[in-house]
Amino acid sequence: MPPEVVAAVQGAVAVAFDAQAVVGPTFREPPSALDVARGQYLADAVLREVPLPDGAAFSLGLVTPDLFTNGLSFVFGMAFAQRALVSIYRLASDEQGPRGQARFLLRVVTEAIHEVGHLFGLGHCRDRDCAMFFSNTLADTDRKGPALCHHCRAVLHAARP
Ligand SMILES: [Zn+2]
Ligand SMILES: [Zn+2]
Repeated sequence: MPPEVVAAVQGAVAVAFDAQAVVGPTFREPPSALDVARGQYLADAVLREVPLPDGAAFSLGLVTPDLFTNGLSFVFGMAFAQRALVSIYRLASDEQGPRGQARFLLRVVTEAIHEVGHLFGLGHCRDRDCAMFFSNTLADTDRKGPALCHHCRAVLHAARP
């Protein structure tokens, strides 16, 4: 994973959730999770392999190949219990240069905050401008951006001890 992607996600997650975010070990998607006919990895199977370091409450894995799950032709990411996953496969920008790179990083950060939001107990949000809105398309991701709406921030706050 490009270090600038890891750094962008680390910083954004720490700020969004007011939490410590530490870069963990690298991991690879398990070969057994590859569906050869589809050319995609089963997200559920990759998610189980996301390393959860000692002392970490949650762990987010960033992977490069495309992901799918049963019933969906692709997913940008997935989260369950203490583990979350985001694929950068579909998040590249058509635009070249720094603007394209900025767009790409914003998309990765948006999807990372969405999945980590699930780990913190947030469900999907009906606000199309909230990071917890479910993205069916890149246009959804671009529109909503990485910010959480007032409602989701209130839920997050209330869940804190
Ligand atoms: Zn979701
Ligand atoms: Zn929301």
